[in-house]
Amino acid sequence: MIKPSETSVSLETLVSLCKRRGFVFPAADIYGGINGVYDFGPLGTLMKKNIRKAWLTSLENKWGSVVELEGSLLAPEAVWKASGHVEGFHDPMIDCKNCKHRYRADDTDLSKGCPHCGKNDWTEVRNFNMMFKTQLGALEGASSTCYLRPETAQAIFVNFKNVLSTCRVKVPFGIAQAGKSFRNEITPKQFLFRMREFEQMEIEWFCKPETSNDFLQQWIDHRLAFYKAIGISSEKIRVREHTKDELAHYAARCVDVEYLFPFGWKEIEGIAHRGAFDLTQHSNHSGKDLAVFDEETKESYMPHVVEASVGTDRLFLTLLYDSYFEDEVEGEKRIVLKIDPTIAPITAAFMPLVKKLSEPVEKLYHAAKRAGLSVQVDDSGASIGKRYRRQDEIGTPFCITYDFESEQDHCVTVRHRDTTKQERIAIEKLMDYLHSHLTKGTRNA
Ligand SMILES: [Zn+2]
Repeated sequence: MIKPSETSVSLETLVSLCKRRGFVFPAADIYGGINGVYDFGPLGTLMKKNIRKAWLTSLENKWGSVVELEGSLLAPEAVWKASGHVEGFHDPMIDCKNCKHRYRADDTDLSKGCPHCGKNDWTEVRNFNMMFKTQLGALEGASSTCYLRPETAQAIFVNFKNVLSTCRVKVPFGIAQAGKSFRNEITPKQFLFRMREFEQMEIEWFCKPETSNDFLQQWIDHRLAFYKAIGISSEKIRVREHTKDELAHYAARCVDVEYLFPFGWKEIEGIAHRGAFDLTQHSNHSGKDLAVFDEETKESYMPHVVEASVGTDRLFLTLLYDSYFEDEVEGEKRIVLKIDPTIAPITAAFMPLVKKLSEPVEKLYHAAKRAGLSVQVDDSGASIGKRYRRQDEIGTPFCITYDFESEQDHCVTVRHRDTTKQERIAIEKLMDYLHSHLTKGTRNA
Protein backbone atom coordinates (compact mmCIF):
# COMPACT_ATOMS: atom_id res chain seq x y z
CA MET A 1 0.00 0.00 0.00
CA ILE A 2 1.08 3.56 -0.67
CA LYS A 3 1.19 6.04 2.15
CA PRO A 4 1.36 9.63 1.00
CA SER A 5 4.28 11.58 2.29
CA GLU A 6 3.55 13.79 5.29
CA THR A 7 6.77 15.76 5.37
CA SER A 8 8.05 18.21 2.83
CA VAL A 9 11.44 17.45 1.41
CA SER A 10 14.52 19.43 2.43
CA LEU A 11 16.65 21.31 -0.07
CA GLU A 12 19.66 19.15 0.88
CA THR A 13 17.73 16.00 -0.03
CA LEU A 14 16.83 17.40 -3.45
CA VAL A 15 20.37 18.60 -4.12
CA SER A 16 21.71 15.18 -3.29
CA LEU A 17 19.09 13.40 -5.42
CA CYS A 18 19.90 15.71 -8.33
CA LYS A 19 23.59 14.92 -8.11
CA ARG A 20 23.17 11.20 -7.41
CA ARG A 21 20.91 10.63 -10.40
CA GLY A 22 22.38 13.05 -12.93
CA PHE A 23 19.87 15.88 -12.92
CA VAL A 24 22.12 18.71 -11.75
CA PHE A 25 25.84 18.95 -10.90
CA PRO A 26 27.76 21.88 -9.43
CA ALA A 27 29.53 23.61 -12.34
CA ALA A 28 33.24 22.73 -12.57
CA ASP A 29 32.57 20.10 -9.92
CA ILE A 30 36.00 18.44 -10.08
CA TYR A 31 37.54 21.84 -9.30
CA GLY A 32 35.34 22.38 -6.30
CA GLY A 33 32.35 24.02 -7.99
CA ILE A 34 31.55 27.66 -8.61
CA ASN A 35 29.09 29.59 -6.51
CA GLY A 36 25.67 30.14 -8.07
CA VAL A 37 26.39 28.22 -11.28
CA TYR A 38 25.24 24.69 -12.13
CA ASP A 39 25.51 22.14 -14.91
CA PHE A 40 22.53 20.06 -15.95
CA GLY A 41 23.31 16.36 -16.32
CA PRO A 42 21.74 13.92 -18.79
CA LEU A 43 18.41 13.60 -16.96
CA GLY A 44 18.26 17.30 -16.14
CA THR A 45 18.86 18.16 -19.78
CA LEU A 46 16.03 15.90 -20.91
CA MET A 47 13.70 17.37 -18.33
CA LYS A 48 14.58 20.94 -19.27
CA LYS A 49 13.85 20.21 -22.93
CA ASN A 50 10.44 18.89 -21.91
CA ILE A 51 9.79 21.98 -19.79
CA ARG A 52 10.63 24.27 -22.72
CA LYS A 53 8.43 22.25 -25.06
CA ALA A 54 5.48 22.32 -22.66
CA TRP A 55 5.93 26.05 -22.14
CA LEU A 56 6.08 26.83 -25.85
CA THR A 57 2.99 24.71 -26.52
CA SER A 58 1.16 26.49 -23.71
CA LEU A 59 1.69 29.87 -25.38
CA GLU A 60 -0.61 28.94 -28.26
CA ASN A 61 -3.73 31.06 -28.03
CA LYS A 62 -6.69 32.24 -30.06
CA TRP A 63 -5.75 35.92 -30.01
CA GLY A 64 -2.77 35.94 -32.37
CA SER A 65 0.36 34.14 -33.48
CA VAL A 66 3.50 33.45 -31.49
CA VAL A 67 6.91 33.23 -33.17
CA GLU A 68 10.23 32.28 -31.65
CA LEU A 69 13.53 34.11 -31.47
CA GLU A 70 17.02 33.15 -30.37
CA GLY A 71 18.77 36.38 -29.50
CA SER A 72 22.47 36.79 -28.81
CA LEU A 73 23.81 36.55 -25.27
CA LEU A 74 26.09 39.54 -25.79
CA ALA A 75 24.71 42.98 -26.51
CA PRO A 76 26.43 46.39 -26.78
CA GLU A 77 26.23 48.95 -24.02
CA ALA A 78 23.77 51.06 -26.08
CA VAL A 79 21.07 48.40 -25.65
CA TRP A 80 21.44 48.39 -21.88
CA LYS A 81 21.53 52.16 -21.66
CA ALA A 82 18.23 52.32 -23.52
CA SER A 83 16.70 49.55 -21.41
CA GLY A 84 17.70 51.27 -18.16
CA HIS A 85 19.99 48.47 -16.98
CA VAL A 86 23.26 50.45 -16.96
CA GLU A 87 21.66 53.09 -14.79
CA GLY A 88 19.29 51.10 -12.64
CA PHE A 89 20.01 47.39 -12.56
CA HIS A 90 21.68 47.09 -9.19
CA ASP A 91 21.28 45.67 -5.73
CA PRO A 92 22.29 47.43 -2.52
CA MET A 93 25.47 45.82 -1.23
CA ILE A 94 27.07 45.95 2.21
CA ASP A 95 30.28 44.42 3.61
CA CYS A 96 31.15 43.22 7.08
CA LYS A 97 34.30 45.16 7.99
CA ASN A 98 35.44 42.38 10.32
CA CYS A 99 35.25 39.24 8.17
CA LYS A 100 34.79 40.88 4.73
CA HIS A 101 31.69 38.85 3.93
CA ARG A 102 29.38 40.60 1.50
CA TYR A 103 25.60 40.79 1.70
CA ARG A 104 22.58 42.29 0.02
CA ALA A 105 21.55 45.12 2.31
CA ASP A 106 17.85 44.61 1.57
CA ASP A 107 18.07 40.90 2.22
CA THR A 108 19.93 40.86 5.55
CA ASP A 109 18.83 41.87 9.03
CA LEU A 110 21.69 44.29 9.67
CA SER A 111 20.69 45.01 13.29
CA LYS A 112 21.40 41.37 14.19
CA GLY A 113 25.01 41.68 13.07
CA CYS A 114 26.95 39.75 10.47
CA PRO A 115 25.38 36.32 9.83
CA HIS A 116 28.91 34.94 9.37
CA CYS A 117 30.95 36.36 12.31
CA GLY A 118 28.31 38.06 14.46
CA LYS A 119 30.08 41.46 14.57
CA ASN A 120 28.07 44.60 13.97
CA ASP A 121 30.52 46.66 11.95
CA TRP A 122 29.26 47.51 8.47
CA THR A 123 30.51 49.52 5.50
CA GLU A 124 28.22 52.03 3.80
CA VAL A 125 25.57 50.58 1.52
CA ARG A 126 26.73 50.80 -2.12
CA ASN A 127 24.93 50.07 -5.36
CA PHE A 128 26.25 47.04 -7.16
CA ASN A 129 25.39 46.63 -10.84
CA MET A 130 24.52 43.02 -11.50
CA MET A 131 25.46 42.87 -15.18
CA PHE A 132 28.56 41.01 -16.35
CA LYS A 133 30.57 43.52 -18.34
CA THR A 134 33.14 42.55 -20.94
CA GLN A 135 35.01 43.79 -24.01
CA LEU A 136 34.59 42.77 -27.63
CA GLY A 137 37.88 42.23 -29.43
CA ALA A 138 41.29 43.57 -28.47
CA LEU A 139 40.47 47.27 -28.30
CA GLU A 140 39.26 48.63 -25.02
CA GLY A 141 36.88 51.57 -24.98
CA ALA A 142 33.28 52.57 -24.85
CA SER A 143 32.58 51.34 -28.38
CA SER A 144 33.68 47.79 -27.57
CA THR A 145 32.01 47.51 -24.16
CA CYS A 146 29.27 44.95 -24.04
CA TYR A 147 27.38 42.93 -21.48
CA LEU A 148 26.11 39.42 -21.05
CA ARG A 149 22.37 39.89 -21.13
CA PRO A 150 20.69 40.09 -17.71
CA GLU A 151 17.33 39.26 -19.32
CA THR A 152 16.25 37.80 -22.63
CA ALA A 153 13.54 40.40 -23.29
CA GLN A 154 15.70 43.15 -24.81
CA ALA A 155 16.69 40.99 -27.80
CA ILE A 156 12.98 40.72 -28.54
CA PHE A 157 12.37 44.48 -28.41
CA VAL A 158 15.45 45.23 -30.46
CA ASN A 159 14.26 42.77 -33.13
CA PHE A 160 10.62 43.85 -33.07
CA LYS A 161 10.71 45.53 -36.51
CA ASN A 162 12.85 42.76 -38.03
CA VAL A 163 10.27 40.19 -37.02
CA LEU A 164 7.33 42.32 -38.04
CA SER A 165 8.71 42.94 -41.52
CA THR A 166 9.80 39.35 -42.23
CA CYS A 167 7.26 37.03 -40.61
CA ARG A 168 3.78 37.96 -41.80
CA VAL A 169 2.65 38.66 -38.27
CA LYS A 170 0.50 41.56 -37.25
CA VAL A 171 -0.44 43.08 -33.94
CA PRO A 172 -1.50 41.43 -31.68
CA PHE A 173 1.24 38.81 -31.74
CA GLY A 174 3.93 37.42 -29.48
CA ILE A 175 7.65 36.79 -29.70
CA ALA A 176 8.85 34.00 -27.44
CA GLN A 177 12.36 33.17 -26.38
CA ALA A 178 13.96 30.63 -24.08
CA GLY A 179 17.59 31.19 -23.25
CA LYS A 180 20.31 32.01 -20.78
CA SER A 181 20.63 35.21 -18.83
CA PHE A 182 23.35 36.32 -16.45
CA ARG A 183 23.17 38.26 -13.21
CA ASN A 184 26.09 38.75 -10.90
CA GLU A 185 24.05 38.09 -7.76
CA ILE A 186 25.71 39.23 -4.54
CA THR A 187 24.37 36.20 -2.72
CA PRO A 188 23.20 33.31 -4.91
CA LYS A 189 21.13 30.91 -2.87
CA GLN A 190 18.70 28.03 -2.59
CA PHE A 191 20.33 25.90 -5.27
CA LEU A 192 18.59 26.56 -8.60
CA PHE A 193 16.43 29.32 -7.17
CA ARG A 194 18.88 32.20 -7.40
CA MET A 195 21.74 31.56 -9.77
CA ARG A 196 24.26 33.77 -11.53
CA GLU A 197 23.72 32.02 -14.85
CA PHE A 198 20.14 30.96 -15.41
CA GLU A 199 17.52 30.39 -18.05
CA GLN A 200 14.41 32.39 -18.82
CA MET A 201 11.40 31.55 -20.94
CA GLU A 202 9.78 34.81 -21.97
CA ILE A 203 7.02 35.96 -24.22
CA GLU A 204 6.54 39.58 -25.16
CA TRP A 205 3.01 40.13 -26.40
CA PHE A 206 2.59 43.19 -28.64
CA CYS A 207 -0.86 44.70 -28.74
CA LYS A 208 -2.81 47.91 -29.28
CA PRO A 209 -2.66 50.19 -26.21
CA GLU A 210 -6.41 50.10 -25.59
CA THR A 211 -6.37 46.28 -25.44
CA SER A 212 -3.38 45.90 -23.12
CA ASN A 213 -5.20 45.78 -19.77
CA ASP A 214 -7.52 43.05 -21.01
CA PHE A 215 -4.62 41.11 -22.49
CA LEU A 216 -2.73 41.30 -19.20
CA GLN A 217 -5.62 39.60 -17.40
CA GLN A 218 -6.04 37.06 -20.20
CA TRP A 219 -2.36 36.18 -20.03
CA ILE A 220 -2.50 35.78 -16.26
CA ASP A 221 -5.33 33.27 -16.64
CA HIS A 222 -3.61 31.58 -19.57
CA ARG A 223 -0.36 31.18 -17.66
CA LEU A 224 -2.10 29.75 -14.59
CA ALA A 225 -3.69 27.11 -16.81
CA PHE A 226 -0.17 26.05 -17.77
CA TYR A 227 0.84 25.23 -14.20
CA LYS A 228 -2.32 23.21 -13.78
CA ALA A 229 -1.71 21.36 -17.06
CA ILE A 230 1.76 20.24 -15.99
CA GLY A 231 0.36 18.90 -12.74
CA ILE A 232 1.66 21.36 -10.14
CA SER A 233 -0.46 21.34 -6.96
CA SER A 234 -2.94 24.17 -7.38
CA GLU A 235 -2.98 24.95 -3.64
CA LYS A 236 0.74 25.75 -3.87
CA ILE A 237 0.38 28.23 -6.73
CA ARG A 238 -0.86 31.77 -6.22
CA VAL A 239 -0.88 35.11 -8.00
CA ARG A 240 0.45 38.08 -6.10
CA GLU A 241 -0.15 41.63 -7.26
CA HIS A 242 2.83 44.01 -7.00
CA THR A 243 2.29 46.96 -4.72
CA LYS A 244 2.85 50.48 -6.10
CA ASP A 245 6.36 50.85 -4.61
CA GLU A 246 7.35 47.38 -5.79
CA LEU A 247 6.57 48.09 -9.43
CA ALA A 248 9.51 48.27 -11.79
CA HIS A 249 10.08 51.64 -13.47
CA TYR A 250 8.61 50.39 -16.76
CA ALA A 251 5.58 48.53 -15.44
CA ALA A 252 2.01 49.78 -15.19
CA ARG A 253 0.86 46.59 -13.48
CA CYS A 254 2.72 43.46 -12.55
CA VAL A 255 1.90 40.17 -10.87
CA ASP A 256 4.08 37.33 -9.68
CA VAL A 257 3.05 33.73 -10.03
CA GLU A 258 4.39 32.24 -6.82
CA TYR A 259 4.99 28.71 -5.59
CA LEU A 260 5.01 27.69 -1.95
CA PHE A 261 8.58 26.45 -1.44
CA PRO A 262 9.71 25.21 1.99
CA PHE A 263 11.48 28.60 2.20
CA GLY A 264 8.25 30.50 1.54
CA TRP A 265 6.10 31.80 -1.33
CA LYS A 266 8.53 32.72 -4.10
CA GLU A 267 8.24 34.00 -7.63
CA ILE A 268 8.51 31.53 -10.50
CA GLU A 269 6.99 33.76 -13.18
CA GLY A 270 6.47 37.48 -13.56
CA ILE A 271 3.66 38.86 -15.71
CA ALA A 272 3.94 42.56 -16.44
CA HIS A 273 2.23 45.32 -18.35
CA ARG A 274 5.28 47.13 -19.75
CA GLY A 275 3.29 49.65 -21.74
CA ALA A 276 5.18 51.28 -24.60
CA PHE A 277 8.28 51.79 -22.46
CA ASP A 278 10.73 49.47 -24.20
CA LEU A 279 9.85 50.22 -27.81
CA THR A 280 9.83 53.95 -27.07
CA GLN A 281 13.22 53.79 -25.37
CA HIS A 282 14.79 51.84 -28.23
CA SER A 283 13.19 54.18 -30.79
CA ASN A 284 14.65 57.19 -29.02
CA HIS A 285 18.10 55.71 -28.41
CA SER A 286 18.59 54.04 -31.80
CA GLY A 287 16.91 56.68 -33.92
CA LYS A 288 14.88 53.93 -35.64
CA ASP A 289 11.13 54.37 -35.51
CA LEU A 290 9.60 51.25 -33.98
CA ALA A 291 6.01 52.46 -34.22
CA VAL A 292 3.41 50.49 -36.16
CA PHE A 293 1.02 51.82 -38.80
CA ASP A 294 -2.63 51.08 -38.20
CA GLU A 295 -4.37 50.37 -41.52
CA GLU A 296 -7.80 51.16 -40.06
CA THR A 297 -7.14 54.49 -38.39
CA LYS A 298 -4.29 55.44 -40.78
CA GLU A 299 -2.22 56.45 -37.78
CA SER A 300 1.05 55.31 -36.31
CA TYR A 301 1.18 54.07 -32.73
CA MET A 302 3.62 52.43 -30.37
CA PRO A 303 2.35 48.95 -29.42
CA HIS A 304 2.00 48.07 -25.76
CA VAL A 305 3.69 45.00 -24.34
CA VAL A 306 2.47 42.34 -21.96
CA GLU A 307 5.34 40.19 -20.76
CA ALA A 308 5.22 36.76 -19.17
CA SER A 309 8.64 35.65 -17.94
CA VAL A 310 9.32 32.25 -16.38
CA GLY A 311 12.50 31.29 -14.57
CA THR A 312 13.15 27.93 -16.23
CA ASP A 313 15.41 26.69 -13.44
CA ARG A 314 12.97 27.86 -10.79
CA LEU A 315 10.25 25.92 -12.54
CA PHE A 316 12.59 22.92 -12.68
CA LEU A 317 13.11 23.23 -8.91
CA THR A 318 9.36 23.70 -8.41
CA LEU A 319 8.63 20.51 -10.30
CA LEU A 320 11.11 18.58 -8.16
CA TYR A 321 9.66 19.91 -4.91
CA ASP A 322 6.11 19.38 -6.01
CA SER A 323 6.61 15.84 -7.24
CA TYR A 324 8.88 14.45 -4.52
CA PHE A 325 7.28 11.85 -2.29
CA GLU A 326 8.50 9.20 0.04
CA ASP A 327 6.14 6.32 0.56
CA GLU A 328 6.05 2.60 1.19
CA VAL A 329 5.45 -0.12 -1.37
CA GLU A 330 5.02 -3.67 -0.06
CA GLY A 331 6.76 -2.78 3.16
CA GLU A 332 9.68 -1.15 1.42
CA LYS A 333 10.44 2.57 1.49
CA ARG A 334 10.74 4.31 -1.82
CA ILE A 335 11.45 7.78 -3.17
CA VAL A 336 9.23 8.72 -6.07
CA LEU A 337 9.06 11.78 -8.31
CA LYS A 338 5.46 12.01 -9.46
CA ILE A 339 6.31 14.27 -12.38
CA ASP A 340 3.81 14.73 -15.15
CA PRO A 341 4.59 12.25 -17.98
CA THR A 342 5.08 15.12 -20.43
CA ILE A 343 7.86 16.53 -18.23
CA ALA A 344 9.50 13.36 -16.87
CA PRO A 345 12.97 12.92 -18.39
CA ILE A 346 12.38 9.25 -19.22
CA THR A 347 8.91 8.15 -20.34
CA ALA A 348 9.44 4.41 -20.09
CA ALA A 349 12.08 1.95 -18.94
CA PHE A 350 12.24 -1.42 -20.65
CA MET A 351 13.26 -4.36 -18.53
CA PRO A 352 13.93 -7.93 -19.53
CA LEU A 353 12.91 -10.15 -16.62
CA VAL A 354 16.20 -12.00 -17.05
CA LYS A 355 19.29 -11.25 -19.08
CA LYS A 356 18.58 -13.79 -21.80
CA LEU A 357 15.39 -11.91 -22.78
CA SER A 358 17.48 -8.82 -23.63
CA GLU A 359 17.19 -9.17 -27.39
CA PRO A 360 13.42 -8.59 -27.78
CA VAL A 361 13.73 -5.76 -25.26
CA GLU A 362 16.41 -4.10 -27.39
CA LYS A 363 13.96 -4.24 -30.30
CA LEU A 364 11.24 -2.57 -28.25
CA TYR A 365 13.70 0.08 -27.13
CA HIS A 366 14.69 0.97 -30.69
CA ALA A 367 11.07 1.01 -31.85
CA ALA A 368 10.28 3.46 -29.04
CA LYS A 369 13.27 5.62 -29.96
CA ARG A 370 12.10 5.72 -33.57
CA ALA A 371 8.65 6.72 -32.32
CA GLY A 372 10.29 9.75 -30.68
CA LEU A 373 10.00 8.57 -27.10
CA SER A 374 12.57 9.12 -24.36
CA VAL A 375 13.30 5.62 -23.09
CA GLN A 376 15.89 3.55 -21.28
CA VAL A 377 16.76 -0.11 -20.89
CA ASP A 378 17.57 -1.54 -17.49
CA ASP A 379 18.90 -5.03 -18.09
CA SER A 380 20.94 -5.15 -14.92
CA GLY A 381 20.65 -8.33 -12.91
CA ALA A 382 18.85 -6.51 -10.09
CA SER A 383 15.43 -7.68 -8.98
CA ILE A 384 12.46 -6.15 -10.78
CA GLY A 385 11.44 -4.41 -7.56
CA LYS A 386 14.82 -2.79 -7.23
CA ARG A 387 14.75 -1.69 -10.87
CA TYR A 388 11.28 -0.19 -10.36
CA ARG A 389 12.62 1.75 -7.39
CA ARG A 390 15.47 3.20 -9.44
CA GLN A 391 13.00 4.45 -12.04
CA ASP A 392 10.59 5.81 -9.41
CA GLU A 393 13.38 7.98 -8.06
CA ILE A 394 13.89 9.68 -11.44
CA GLY A 395 10.16 9.97 -12.15
CA THR A 396 9.78 7.44 -14.98
CA PRO A 397 5.99 6.99 -15.34
CA PHE A 398 6.10 3.51 -16.94
CA CYS A 399 8.22 0.43 -16.41
CA ILE A 400 7.74 -2.22 -19.06
CA THR A 401 8.75 -5.78 -18.30
CA TYR A 402 9.27 -8.43 -20.91
CA ASP A 403 9.01 -11.90 -19.37
CA PHE A 404 8.84 -15.52 -20.50
CA GLU A 405 5.11 -15.25 -21.10
CA SER A 406 5.71 -12.37 -23.51
CA GLU A 407 7.23 -14.86 -25.93
CA GLN A 408 3.85 -16.61 -26.15
CA ASP A 409 1.19 -13.92 -25.65
CA HIS A 410 3.08 -10.99 -27.27
CA CYS A 411 2.20 -8.79 -24.33
CA VAL A 412 4.32 -6.93 -21.78
CA THR A 413 3.63 -5.87 -18.21
CA VAL A 414 3.26 -2.11 -17.82
CA ARG A 415 3.77 -0.94 -14.26
CA HIS A 416 2.55 2.53 -13.27
CA ARG A 417 4.81 4.71 -11.17
CA ASP A 418 2.24 6.46 -8.96
CA THR A 419 -0.22 3.66 -8.27
CA THR A 420 2.28 0.78 -8.77
CA LYS A 421 -0.60 -1.01 -10.53
CA GLN A 422 0.31 -3.35 -13.36
CA GLU A 423 -1.44 -4.28 -16.57
CA ARG A 424 -0.73 -6.48 -19.59
CA ILE A 425 -0.56 -4.58 -22.85
CA ALA A 426 -0.19 -6.04 -26.33
CA ILE A 427 3.22 -5.18 -27.75
CA GLU A 428 1.70 -3.95 -31.02
CA LYS A 429 -0.36 -1.39 -29.08
CA LEU A 430 2.45 -0.29 -26.77
CA MET A 431 3.73 2.78 -28.65
CA ASP A 432 0.21 4.20 -29.07
CA TYR A 433 -0.41 3.52 -25.41
CA LEU A 434 2.67 5.50 -24.34
CA HIS A 435 1.97 8.33 -26.76
CA SER A 436 -1.58 8.67 -25.50
CA HIS A 437 -0.26 9.32 -21.97
CA LEU A 438 2.11 11.96 -23.30
CA THR A 439 -0.65 13.90 -24.98
CA LYS A 440 -3.00 13.53 -22.03
CA GLY A 441 -0.22 14.60 -19.70
CA THR A 442 -2.08 13.92 -16.49
CA ARG A 443 -0.30 13.16 -13.30
CA ASN A 444 -1.21 9.89 -11.58
CA ALA A 445 -1.34 8.26 -15.00
ZN1 LIG B 1 31.36 39.27 9.49
